[in-house]
Amino acid sequence: MTDRRDSLLETFMQRLCARSPGETEFHQAAEEIARDVITVEKAHSGFAAARVLDRLSEPDRVIAFRVVWEDDAGQTRINRGWRVQTSNAIGPYKGGLRFHPDLSLSVLKFLGFEQCFKNALTGLPLGGAKGGADFDPRGRSGGEIMRFCHAFMGELCKYIGPDRDIPAGDINVSPREIGWMFGAYKRHCGEFHGALTGKGESFGGSALRVEATGYGLIYFVCAMLRHQDSDLEGRRVAISGAGNVATHAAELAIREGARVVSLSDSSGALLAEDGLTQDTVDRVRRTKAAGGNLSELSGQRGLRYLEGGAPWGQVEAEVLLPCATQNEVDETELRAALDAGAGMIAEGANMPLTAGAVSLSSRKGLIHAPGKAANAGGVAISGLEMSQNAHGQFLDAAQVDDALRGIMRRIHDTVAEEGRTSDGRLDYRLGANVAGYRKLANAISAFGA
Ligand code: GLU
Repeated sequence: MTDRRDSLLETFMQRLCARSPGETEFHQAAEEIARDVITVEKAHSGFAAARVLDRLSEPDRVIAFRVVWEDDAGQTRINRGWRVQTSNAIGPYKGGLRFHPDLSLSVLKFLGFEQCFKNALTGLPLGGAKGGADFDPRGRSGGEIMRFCHAFMGELCKYIGPDRDIPAGDINVSPREIGWMFGAYKRHCGEFHGALTGKGESFGGSALRVEATGYGLIYFVCAMLRHQDSDLEGRRVAISGAGNVATHAAELAIREGARVVSLSDSSGALLAEDGLTQDTVDRVRRTKAAGGNLSELSGQRGLRYLEGGAPWGQVEAEVLLPCATQNEVDETELRAALDAGAGMIAEGANMPLTAGAVSLSSRKGLIHAPGKAANAGGVAISGLEMSQNAHGQFLDAAQVDDALRGIMRRIHDTVAEEGRTSDGRLDYRLGANVAGYRKLANAISAFGA
């Protein structure tokens, strides 16, 4: 079985690498999924005939465009924008927009590919896409970021719409940027409809959309622990990142009785041996919103600041929640975290482990939930925002919270069901890949080869 799988995988990867040379992040994401599903694909002649994996690993289309905007000195600036529309097999294209100087087509293709599986797992009719720009908002004034958002949407608006492609936020794209982009969208297309999610509540946004990814992550972790007849009470949880996902995960974990022992940003890690307080999490949020970094909180009581470092292995923790960015945890850092007591990982970021760290996690038998399952809460509430917009009826925060809990529990149960291995282990990564694949493959096969 393993030999057969390896040879199928090798052929698939050769085809993929020939079509996308040098796109290392994309190759990593595709290989991780293909390894788990390639034998499932071969076992179903209908799926195999449709060559589902080959189709999904070649986006429906990649749109690239120039973004021209003016900085505060009146100088014209040029950036590159993209939208990768990976697949609309089970619903209109859906996925976030990221502004980051390191953004590349490889990163966007990996994110779009993962998004197809994540969106399938939510149980909602959402296809997969991702987009953004190589724009660096750091050090830019609010006016500059607003002009960039307007210019970016002036181009992107030609390719999106409520039944076509519905972008949302991602790294460096928060409700403020979505508001600017929605304003530009409305102006350009002349219609008011929900072509973006993550909007402000006064113009069609959903309650709890901002909190949804971080809260959903904790609901997922609670379901994993419940599966082992346990809970978060008193557990030590290490979190990386200091953005929307990380801070909301920290907030809810603390509320559930956990000790959150870290947060981090690109300047370094904030460590709290006895656990962060809600007040510190609020201060982190305010510091980041004002454009500062975590070093500003260094020296405060009960906190230790580690210049330039990641939190892994610095403080004892059983549960790891990487919530910063792709490939942020390498093999050495994971080994240090294992030495400091780690037994469980749930990914708040997309593909936060390097390939080496993923293979260490498997060898050590860590209970490891992939981002496509554990962080699906954000896009799930985006899906609810779309239906609220379509019906003109809105849910309150308690109703959205209930829906989010239910969705995360169902994702957990589906993934746990599909992730049972022949030797009785529970492999969440396998379960997420196979469950997402089956749904996509059923649709793609139904359309005819
Ligand atoms: N960027 C988020 C994700 O990675 C949310 C996408 C959305 O709401 O469309 O899933």
